[in-house]
Amino acid sequence: METATKLVAIAKRLYDRNMNAALGGNVSIRLEDGIAITPAGINKGFMTEDDVVVVDMGGTKLRGNGKPSSEGKMHYEIYKLRPDVQAIIHAHPPFAVAFALAHRELPDDILPEATIMLGHVPCLPYVTPSTIELAREVAQGLLRRNAALMANHGVITLGSDLEEAYNRMELLEQTCMSVVYASVLGGVHHIPPAEMEFFVDNFGLEREG
Ligand code: 13P
Ligand code: ZN
Repeated sequence: METATKLVAIAKRLYDRNMNAALGGNVSIRLEDGIAITPAGINKGFMTEDDVVVVDMGGTKLRGNGKPSSEGKMHYEIYKLRPDVQAIIHAHPPFAVAFALAHRELPDDILPEATIMLGHVPCLPYVTPSTIELAREVAQGLLRRNAALMANHGVITLGSDLEEAYNRMELLEQTCMSVVYASVLGGVHHIPPAEMEFFVDNFGLEREG
């Protein structure tokens, strides 16, 4: 599938699955000469292939009609620090954003699938959207992990391809939703510490603290 077609399909899926609303969110894929990224300030649920913009890692537009995402810097900084990353998604899914509003992190020891695909998901400090300061804060926060909450803003996930970045976003949102529901039922119980060794030994989980 063409890069632009893949970007549009994921942008639409994020919108259809209530993970973005109005003008929120952006998606990018690494190319040989830069990145393909969603345009700034439009509803990504309605975008088409013609809206996709190609920019170099300095943010200079190479191809496309629109203006690149206002969070382009965040994408470039991450790609520069993480050569293994091929795709990045930034979104505003409501349950994960609830965590970001409460400045709550997601622990790595509650659901096995989330342990393997996400690990510990921190809530990074609030920084003004669209700034180089936010870009640097988020890129540093993602040096050794593939998902983070951004305080009072949203979520970011990385992947070795777009589908992996998308799956991390979808799982993060669903896990946050389950934790909120569990809190109504009296709270979350954690997987016992000794049991977590299984994920360290078999899935290379790196635990913090
Ligand atoms: P863009 O439309 O410029 O990508 O911005 C959306 C967003 O989520 C800003 O944080
Ligand atoms: Zn945003």
